This record gives sequence, structure tokens and C-alpha cells, in this order.
Amino acid sequence: MKILTGKRIRVFGVVQGVGFRPFIYRLAKEYNLKGWVLNTSSSVEIEVEGEKESIERFISDIKRKAPPVARIERIEVEDSVPNNYRDFLIKESKEEPGYQLISPDIAVCEDCLRELFDPRDRRYRYPFINCTNCGPRFTIIKDIPYDRKNTTMDKFRMCKDCEEEYNDPLNRRFHAQPNACPICGPRLWIEGLKVEDPIEETARLLKEGFIVAIKGLGGFHLACDATNDNAVRLLRERKKRGYKPFALMMKDLNTIKMYCYVTPEEEKVLVSPQAPIVLLKIKDLGDISRGVAPNNNYLGVMLPYTPVHHMLLREVSKPLVMTSGNLSEEPICQDSEEALNRLKGIADYFLLNDRDIYSRYDDSVVFVFDGKPQLIRRARGYAPSPVKIPFKIKQTLACGGELKNTFCLTRDNYAFISQHIGDLENIETLEHFINTIELYKRLFRIEPQVVACDLHPDYLSTRYALQFEGTLPVIRVQHHYAHIVSCMGENSITEPVIGISLDGSGYGLDGNIWGGEVLIADYDGFIRKAHLEYLPMPGGELAIRRPYRLTIGYLFKLFGKIPDLPFLNAVPEEEIRIIKEQVEKGINTPFTSSMGRLFDAVSSLLDICQEATYEGQPAVELEMMGKDIEDDEYYSWEIEKENGIFILRVKKLFEGLLSDIDVLPVSIISTKFHNTVARMMLDVTLLIREETKIDKVALSGGCFQNRRLLNRLVRLLREKDFEVYTHNQVPCNDGGLSLGQAIIGGRAGS
Ligand SMILES: [Zn+2]
Ligand SMILES: [Zn+2]
Ligand SMILES: [Zn+2]
Repeated sequence: MKILTGKRIRVFGVVQGVGFRPFIYRLAKEYNLKGWVLNTSSSVEIEVEGEKESIERFISDIKRKAPPVARIERIEVEDSVPNNYRDFLIKESKEEPGYQLISPDIAVCEDCLRELFDPRDRRYRYPFINCTNCGPRFTIIKDIPYDRKNTTMDKFRMCKDCEEEYNDPLNRRFHAQPNACPICGPRLWIEGLKVEDPIEETARLLKEGFIVAIKGLGGFHLACDATNDNAVRLLRERKKRGYKPFALMMKDLNTIKMYCYVTPEEEKVLVSPQAPIVLLKIKDLGDISRGVAPNNNYLGVMLPYTPVHHMLLREVSKPLVMTSGNLSEEPICQDSEEALNRLKGIADYFLLNDRDIYSRYDDSVVFVFDGKPQLIRRARGYAPSPVKIPFKIKQTLACGGELKNTFCLTRDNYAFISQHIGDLENIETLEHFINTIELYKRLFRIEPQVVACDLHPDYLSTRYALQFEGTLPVIRVQHHYAHIVSCMGENSITEPVIGISLDGSGYGLDGNIWGGEVLIADYDGFIRKAHLEYLPMPGGELAIRRPYRLTIGYLFKLFGKIPDLPFLNAVPEEEIRIIKEQVEKGINTPFTSSMGRLFDAVSSLLDICQEATYEGQPAVELEMMGKDIEDDEYYSWEIEKENGIFILRVKKLFEGLLSDIDVLPVSIISTKFHNTVARMMLDVTLLIREETKIDKVALSGGCFQNRRLLNRLVRLLREKDFEVYTHNQVPCNDGGLSLGQAIIGGRAGS
């Protein structure tokens, strides 16, 4: 007689809603094991008995053969007394204290696509086809455990066929919570129009130049024909969107490759289950309207990721603009009622459906650097997957920054960074912020013991955090320190680093606006070792929108006079006089060490951009002007040491710019300027290494979205044998701040 062995196994990670139990079921059958598997609120629990060797192979297969979207964090195994089970069963979910990881929404899989376009399949052209390997997850879940009754699919009763699939452990749709078919599931329609085939009709409307609002996974897109200049211009006008590039959706990889260069790494990201918008270098715009991405060398492109997209793109057979369905600055619209209301002045038609969206979820945006995706906006496909940090901290709520806000909630060594919330500048976004915090607290069973926020007193996120004062410790974290710790945390660095934090603006410890900072940092604190010299920002915030104010202010401060230059033609006489007076008398003129502002000022000086219609526009256009060929020329600068701090002085840099301005093409000046900034940062980092012997460097802050700067600086640092760390899991811009705040807050609070 064979001797039975019994094991109790617990699997932690993203293991629910991803076809994990059917996978275990099949595996158990394969090895002839008996017992059961079930979902708990924190893990998947398995009890098996059978031959010792089979069990061992079963356990090693769990990790090796897991379903494509599952993410196993760890497996715990203990002995159990055999019960002489007769069969292997999938049991009901069990509620218990604890928490589980939740899968992001996933692009439609190959199997479902095959069925979608197979006329013999019962889901032929059914726009809501999905299975355990794909479809909505996070956007429809209201609570854990992830069962149909806890999702927005609870209002649809499955028909007999769907029910059978749902209950069959060997079926691809076993316990696929959003499972549906044309008989029993969500429907698609065009508001106010009676048409046979809403997809065909939408395609026709788009081809005729109309703007259509399309309800998707986590909100609405505004779509139009990207090759139609008029439609693109109209969309810009109606959406009140100046020059900010629109994202495009293209039918397939081959189409993308007609317009853009695609490296193998970029291709991998495009076709990944996350299917984000990828910034790709333009090869040939061809028939695409210049209005899609004015003054830009890159296109933000994604592949279709829902069944509706696939059907629509096949029908239209042209690239479509697919931009978030919102007015600029407001959050993406979520339900149909809201969209009909808020988008009525923008969209001509609405393609709607009756599957409710529980959570707003924008498209993620990435670019590929060093073969790895760098996130610019982290939402669909990525959130709410946590970032693992190198140690456990107290349960902490970090409220993030003002622009591109995300918040972060922590539990054990997991940091749950929210999806992109938006700019906290209006009541709608603030509500979205507050509601989403409540959702994450509920989903991950987190009750914060510490609250962390920025130092800036006027950020709405700071004000939200300060409400907790008196009940919970509120830790205020300097902006650039939070950036650097964010980068350290996601890279699991535990030793001190030289942190180069370059961005637009952040509240400094001395009341000035910081932004060109080099810090020595660890998790216990930081020392400001270097920064750009302080220069005036005449008119404060106004100088960000009108970068020529910075240029005039900088020149006046550095040289005491303003040379006669072409960029001044854009500025009214009167305003020039006012700016000088503001600088002289210090009226409404804060001082800043910001690197972002230096880029703005140079962009204006070269007459590239005199008005910022979106955040960072002058710097983006300056970057785009640069040459593609390698060139090592650069301007001079000076580094002075004052009270132990290196001050980076830019008078010589401006002298160089001024003498080149009439002589060299803007493309060369731009390249030289980028080279200069990289060299200058390298220089000061070398000086700091000499003093401190630290050779780990962390790069963070919005300026590192500038590929020209990032490339150049990383290369220079590596040539000098620095270990360079950049962001891969959260954005380097303010979307990544909350992670750094959370780590510092969670440690300080313990
Ligand atoms: Zn599927
Ligand atoms: Zn059905
Ligand atoms: Zn920042």
C-alpha cells in the first residue's frame, strides 16, 4: 500500500481573478492528487494529499506554470494529516482577516480575440467578451474577496451557457467574474440613435469627422479620426487643450511601424497585457494630422485593448485619437450620466454600455529607457499592483503632491500606489482623490496609523493630510527628498545615495522654491549638498505660464540689463518694465533653484516657446529641437562652495547662449544646453563623491522625463563608475512622490 502524504499550501500574490484555482485544479488532476483549493481574503489555500513525489512536483509547478497574469509573491507549505479525500474540489471562498493583491485590468487575450472574430462562436462580435486571463478587474471590484457579487457585474444574471462555463473548472471562464455573452451580458449602444450595429455606425461617424465619446474600461475616451485635420482641431478647441499631444490608437504593430520607430523593447511593452500608451519616435507622420502632437518628435501610441477597440479599429482602419474623456484638468468621466453632462459640448455622439465602472482609470503612459519601461502616468494595467519596499513600515497614508497626484497606502512591505488621480486643482479631482483613498483602504484592509504629505502648505493634498493632526501623527516631507526616497524604495536601496532631484518646483526648507537639488539621502534624513543658484521668478506662478518672465528676470539678475533679443518681440513693453520693477523691488518675486525653470527660460530665450499651454511645454519643445547626432560641445558654468553647499552658477552658461544665439542654429544650441546640464550635474556629483565616498546615485524628478538629459547624464555617470538608479515602477515626476512620502512617514511614525 502506498503511503499518503498531506500538505497545506498557501499562495500569496496576485492569485485571484486570474484563473488560478482552475490552474491548481488541473494541476492536481494531472498529478492525481486529492483535496481542495479555495480563495481566502488574503491568499489561495490548497490542501493536497497523494504520493510524496507528485506533491513535490505539484508545488514546483505552481510557480513555474502559473497563469500569465498571476504574480506569485510567496508560497507557504506545511504538513497536514491526510483525510483520505476522494476527489479534488474547488471550494467556496472563505473570509478571514487579511488582505490580498488585486489584479489590474488586462488587455483582451488572444483566445478571446479569436472567438470575437469567429462567426461560429457564440460570442462572435460580442463587445464584452473576456475570460480569466483578460478583461476588467480593478475597475469593477467593490470589495474583496473577488467574487461576482462584489463587482459591478452583480446586476447581470448569467444565462445557462455562461453559468456552465463559470462552474466548470476546466473551462477558461471558470469563475471569470465578468463572464458574459450577448444573451445575458452588458450591451452597447449609441445614445439617441437606433442602429443595428453600433460599432459599424461609430466607425462611420468617425470617418465622417465626428468626435465620439466612447465608454471604456476605466472611463471615457474622446475619439476622432487622427488623419482628419479638422476633427483634430475641433477636438482641441472643444477640449480647451492647447498644444499637449493627443494619444493615438492604431490597429496593429505593423500600422504603428509605418509611422514610428519601434525597438524590440518598445514592442514588448506595446503588446504586453498592460498595453499602455508608449512614446515612440516618429518615423513618418504620413497622413496623420500635424495637430496631433505639435512641435513633438514622439507619438503616444497604444494598441487596442478591449474588444470594442479591436472591432472599431478594424472597421475604421485609420489611426484614431483616443484621449481621456474629460475637460482639461478635470478627472476622466466615469458613468454615462456624468459623461453625457460634462462631455456634451465636446462629443457629437456617445458610444455607451451598461457595465458600470466602479473606479476611474486612465491609460498609462510609458517610454522605454535602458530597455525598461519608465512610467510617466501609472494607471491602467499597473495600479493597484503594489511596489515592494525593502522593509516593513507602519500602515501609512501618503497624500502625494499637487500635480499628477497619486496617493500611497502601505501595509507590511507593500506600498499600494493609487492610479493617477490628476491635478488637485478642482473639486471633481479632490472628490476622486478622497473616494479612491476610501476604496483602497477597504480593498486592502488598511487603517493608517501615520499620515504623510508635502511641506507645501497650499497643496490640497497637504490640507487634506492636516485634517488628521491631533488624531494621527502627520509627517511633512520635503518634496525633493520624497522624490529621491521614492527612487531608493522601488530599487530596494538600503545604503545612502547621492540623490539628483531635478524638477519644476517643490517647497524648500528655507522657504524658497527648490528644484535643482543634489542631496545625500538615506531613509533617516538628507543633507542638501548642492543646488542651482537662486534666480527670480517675477510674478510667481505667472512666470511658469509665461516663461519669458523667467528669461527677463534671469538676465536682469545675472547681467543687470537685458540685451535686445528676438524673444522680446513677444513681450509687451509695459510687461518688460513691470518685470524689471518686480525683480528690483522684490515684488511678488519668489526665488527658485529649479532646473525645470532653467529649461523654461532657455526655451524662451531661444524663442522656441513663449507660453506654456501644458505643464513642461517649453522644456519639451526645447528637448525636441535638439539634434539626433552625438555632439559633445557644451557651455561653461561655475561651482562655488558656500557653507558646505555647492552652488551651481549659470552666468557663464547664459553668456555662452547669448553669444551663440545669432550664430548657431537652435538645434545645436539646444543640444549644447542639454550637454551642459548633464556635465554640470556630473561635475558636482564627482565633487560630492570625493567628500563622501558614496557612489550610488539616484535620479528623480520630472526633468528626467527628458530623454536627452536622462540618456546623457546616465551615460556620463556610468563612465565614471557610478551605480545609477532610475525609476521603473513609479513615475519620476510628482506621480511618484507619494511612495517616497509613505516610506519616510511610515518609518518616522514607528
Ligand atoms: Zn480572454
Ligand atoms: Zn450568457
Ligand atoms: Zn517634483
